[in-house]
Amino acid sequence: MAFVIPTPPAPVLPVADSDGLFPVRRIYCVGRNYADHAREMGGNPDREPPFFFGKPSDAVVPGGGDIAYPPLTSNLHHEVELVVALGGGGRDIPVEQALACVYGYAVGIDLTRRDLQAVFKDKGQPWEMAKGFDQSAPVSALMPAERSGHPSSGAIWLSVDGADRQRGDLAQMTWNVAEVIAHLSAYMLLAPGDLIFTGTPSGVGALVRGNRVRCGIQGVGELEIALV
Ligand code: MN
Repeated sequence: MAFVIPTPPAPVLPVADSDGLFPVRRIYCVGRNYADHAREMGGNPDREPPFFFGKPSDAVVPGGGDIAYPPLTSNLHHEVELVVALGGGGRDIPVEQALACVYGYAVGIDLTRRDLQAVFKDKGQPWEMAKGFDQSAPVSALMPAERSGHPSSGAIWLSVDGADRQRGDLAQMTWNVAEVIAHLSAYMLLAPGDLIFTGTPSGVGALVRGNRVRCGIQGVGELEIALV
């Protein structure tokens, strides 16, 4: 047997300060996991169960860099997020065992076509084309948990052309990393290579061509992209 078309390249993330590569299997994202962002989106800031959506694994942009401003939007938003990279997995993972599944952490931007998302929400249609487009998931090099530990607090920030846009703390997450993994594993069998974007603090806003975006998470790393 042989492949009848060229096999697509496997999406990978670099591991910080090493020549190791992390193969990306799936990308999951949590919606509204910081109360102040839920409020700015007009939603309920209370502790409702987390909800999830996905992006294609090849939407990942390893290490950031140039990103083409996507089509069919005039309101592309940045959402800086802690990204969890799984080295283990399972189904119905208990909260107490969830962190043992984590290989490491990274800084990611959940790029969002906010205007399309609003249209889809109004019509009760799927968000996918607002969230899972090409290059919609820039992610920094991975920091292995054996080096960083499991961060439960620390600054998470994003600036555009040097101006502060988002500044929060991981401790503000409505559902922490272990709880997110436990909830998600009730819906899906999680496996090594899965990435989970864990939600964004308030301050999301629009990007335009030419913007230079820098973001970071204390103890995890930094990421820079340019909209071209
Ligand atoms: Mn998000």
